[in-house]
Amino acid sequence: MALKSAKEYVDSLREMNTRVYMFGERIENWVDHPMIAPSINCVAMTYALAKNPEYEDIMTATSSLTGRKINRFTHLHQSPEDLVKKVKMQRLLGQKTASCFQRCVGMDAFNSVFSTTFEIDEKYGTNYHENFKRFIIHVQDNDLTVDGAMTDPKGDRSKAPHQQADPDMFLHVVERRPDGIVVNGAKCHQTGALNSHWIIFMPTISMGEADRDYAVSFACPADAEEIYMIYGRQSCDTRKLEGCSIDVGNAKFGGQEALVVLDHVFIPNEYIFMNGEYEFAGMMVERFAGYHRQSYGGCKVGVGDTLIGAAALAAEYNGVEKASHIKDKLIEMVHLNETLYSCGIACSCEGCPTKAGNYQIDMLLANVCKQNVTRYPYEIVRLAEDIAGGLMVTMPSQKDFESDTVVGNNGETIGEICDKYFKGKEGVSVKDRQKLLRFIENMCLGAAAVGYRTESLHGAGSPQAQRIMIGRQCDMAAKKELAKRIAGISDEE
Ligand code: SF4
Ligand code: FE
Repeated sequence: MALKSAKEYVDSLREMNTRVYMFGERIENWVDHPMIAPSINCVAMTYALAKNPEYEDIMTATSSLTGRKINRFTHLHQSPEDLVKKVKMQRLLGQKTASCFQRCVGMDAFNSVFSTTFEIDEKYGTNYHENFKRFIIHVQDNDLTVDGAMTDPKGDRSKAPHQQADPDMFLHVVERRPDGIVVNGAKCHQTGALNSHWIIFMPTISMGEADRDYAVSFACPADAEEIYMIYGRQSCDTRKLEGCSIDVGNAKFGGQEALVVLDHVFIPNEYIFMNGEYEFAGMMVERFAGYHRQSYGGCKVGVGDTLIGAAALAAEYNGVEKASHIKDKLIEMVHLNETLYSCGIACSCEGCPTKAGNYQIDMLLANVCKQNVTRYPYEIVRLAEDIAGGLMVTMPSQKDFESDTVVGNNGETIGEICDKYFKGKEGVSVKDRQKLLRFIENMCLGAAAVGYRTESLHGAGSPQAQRIMIGRQCDMAAKKELAKRIAGISDEE
């Protein structure tokens, strides 16, 4: 099959038996659930744009394995140019959805598992790379969405996997059979898990020999019988159940996270990509994290574009767009946003080939990129709230604006009173102002803030994880040598 359409993607989810729980109950028709559907629309956009000739160059690629045309979200990057196009694709998707569109985690998993399995096989003569190649060709040919699952619950953070009081704090092998393995445990914060056809599981930290059973990677259908998902709720999410689309702020699109539980799942040998080779756990983690830290230099920038645009519009609606401090705040927002983009592009341009042949980002620059993402969106949000004004959090509901209940002495309705007192500049409709301020609220502290704010901090690793990598990658010894040479300091007596 060639590229799937957005409709074909949504229909394919309906055919799955994914077990989903929310508010303590199983959700049978989760595809149409009002709290879940916006996140599906987001992934569907990755299919829709790939079918649009205008975006063909960015959204599609030629498979390095089959020579066939594929969605770039399933591509193994073949050059720095491919890495740059990936970031541009993510910025585009961020601009079109103002949300997390979820499909990148699979793409980042493909590229890290492809290169890591090659190196495991090189050392041990295992067959993981061929397993993975067969799997990725199936993904590319069927244009599948795949979740990349890394984050274990981790329990007591001071302890290694094998030291945990409850062994399930890290996903692990509980049984080895001739035809495969049985795994048990869970993965937390799984972006787009419900909206995926398959899930690639990977270890979450570097491991030692005693953690051998935890050093495991494999692919599994998202609707395998022994897998279930407990939906993560988001700020203001039940507004989506109220039938007031304006109050939602972005009723069409949204992100999604879930707890994915693997309750003694059997994985056949052909889908295993690591099974006990503990010294490669760190390699897989670092590569996946590196790719996903690059990703944030694209997706968050695209989402930032929409927030900056909304802040500029809010200034116009309030009649303050000519004030010099407003102009300066908007320029500051652009400066911060483009700095993030620069990092995403830079770590892509400096990319280099792996032993397996696909391209990897520059690790130092990818970590610098993500470290900046843990900070700048917060300042962009602060400035957006500053420009928008307090009304973005104190405005009455859409139902009030539409109410014909009489409240005034002259027969005015609640709706008429709201229209009168929430008017901005002449010529701007009160409804548009309402929509815009709710959109900003959604981005700054509503459901989309999961993707734009907290995910900027913790997604793809919390700030300290990047600082450790920056410390490792920065080659401080070489810098000291530079200083010594110019200062005339010699190591010789
Ligand atoms: Fe993609 Fe960004 Fe969402 Fe990660 S946070 S899945 S990079 S949109
Ligand atoms: Fe993320």
